[in-house]
Amino acid sequence: ANDDHVPALVIGSGYGGAVAALRLTQAGIATVVVEMGMAWNTPGSDGKVFCGMLSPDQRSYWLRTTTDQPLGYFLGIPVNKSIARYTGVLDSEKFPGIRVYQGRGVGGGSLVNGGMAVVPKRDYFAQILPSVDVASMYDTYFPRANAALGVNAIDPAWFETADCYQFARVSRDQAKASGYATTFLNNVYDFGYMKQEQANTVPRSALASEVIYGNNYGKRSLDKTYLAAAAATGRLTITAQHAVTAVAPAAAGGYSVTMNQLDTAGATVATKTVRADRVFFAAGSVGTSKLLVAMRAQGRLPNLPAAVGQGWGNNGNVMVARANHIWNTTGALQSGMPAMGIDNWADPAGPVFAEIAPFPAGTELWISLYLAITKNPNRAQFSWNSSTGAVGLSWQTAQNQPAVNAAKRVFDTINKAQATVYRSDLFGPNKVWGDDLTYHPLGGCVLNQATDNYGRLPGYPGLYVVDGSLIPGSTGVNPFVTITALAERNLERILTTDI
Ligand code: FAD
Repeated sequence: ANDDHVPALVIGSGYGGAVAALRLTQAGIATVVVEMGMAWNTPGSDGKVFCGMLSPDQRSYWLRTTTDQPLGYFLGIPVNKSIARYTGVLDSEKFPGIRVYQGRGVGGGSLVNGGMAVVPKRDYFAQILPSVDVASMYDTYFPRANAALGVNAIDPAWFETADCYQFARVSRDQAKASGYATTFLNNVYDFGYMKQEQANTVPRSALASEVIYGNNYGKRSLDKTYLAAAAATGRLTITAQHAVTAVAPAAAGGYSVTMNQLDTAGATVATKTVRADRVFFAAGSVGTSKLLVAMRAQGRLPNLPAAVGQGWGNNGNVMVARANHIWNTTGALQSGMPAMGIDNWADPAGPVFAEIAPFPAGTELWISLYLAITKNPNRAQFSWNSSTGAVGLSWQTAQNQPAVNAAKRVFDTINKAQATVYRSDLFGPNKVWGDDLTYHPLGGCVLNQATDNYGRLPGYPGLYVVDGSLIPGSTGVNPFVTITALAERNLERILTTDI
């Protein structure tokens, strides 16, 4: 409530926020999590909490009047449709050079993501975060994160027979025949549940084309793991539909945190200020960076270092699809949860780690779709625009050319070996590369540059960054395990030395 005083306040409820919430409450500290999105726990008139991917309604997008699907075209024709403006679960936040997809709601990105739980390559992790002790990450914090996230492995024998992974087997066989290695990917989606879906003994979610607008069953999202465990301590309060707009030192000590309470149309219905002894920024790479850059520019946190707002990257994301021969059917039934990747990361001429993505249209399309993660070295900055009163991101679409080039080497090779071609109708009319969107925003408040080596903001005791903004633009694999493990490491240190 307005004017409350709380020991710890966490802004955002994604991976970084959920780790902070659990470890603070377990340490006996009453903690409030403030989340701008909704608590996704109440069924709509169709009896489901989330809408399906094939029939998006208002629940799909954050405050938009048309959908903005990652693949916005089919046969070159736009496929987006009108929806009511609503605080839906997936945000496609538009900057001039890139659309950044993010989850909105209690659980952040875990609500909308593909659940792939991938530990980064050890030598690459050492390269991107040289100030972090690598042994303790791989011995302690990655295992701790995987356990608390509920990560599980697919049964390889079942994978070989399941209809819903025919698309992945086709892409794997083609990659192998073209000289590329593939690897299974762990997931937080319960593969035991998925087996039952395939056997038709439980309601379907991954096998009902559910993914980017939420999963009604099967997925161990953060509200069911970290946040549920934090709530079980009795010391957690989650305040949903409240967007933090300002953080500044409070005269009485600690920090005053201002927030707007939102209705489901996104309108502010109340403004509140609470005082917190400690504030954990967990609004995601974009959310945390925007907030801190604005606070510095507005003179509320004027001493934040220049590195705040720097070092943002898209994890080298680029999407691409291939058209298969008529005999290479990819299946009408495709699991929404990817389970395999092409691993060409060791190739010095262009590292690529490509997730074999489903195209769960419910009908045979002969399409092989991929989300490639590449080692794109380009970075961008957030900066305050005083005339608009908003924070912009400098990323230009052309900065993604290194990602396209790296992915092109791999998929040109596969196309040549298979005598197949790219689909050029899915990302725009006559557009092969999905190079203007990302699912993996990282950086903006990089560890040991914008913060100290544990996420503390210099000059402001009691302010911490705990989310994907700490990671310098790239982690070489899908990022949430890296974000979670780094937050575990930092929280452990903060709890032993600061609190
Ligand atoms: P987030 O999870 O983004 O959480 C930030 C939270 O803060 C959000 O809930 C947001 O609403 C809230 N917030 C923001 N600003 C404010 C504010 N001012 N006030 C209050 N609350 C605020 N990664 C993988 O590892 N594997 C995958 O399979 C995978 N698939 C993906 C698929 C999709 C469609 C998307 C969008 C992402 C995917 N990702 C995947 C990426 C992964 O979800 C993100 O890297 C991860 O969620 C980032 O964690 P975070 O803690 O940094 O922030």
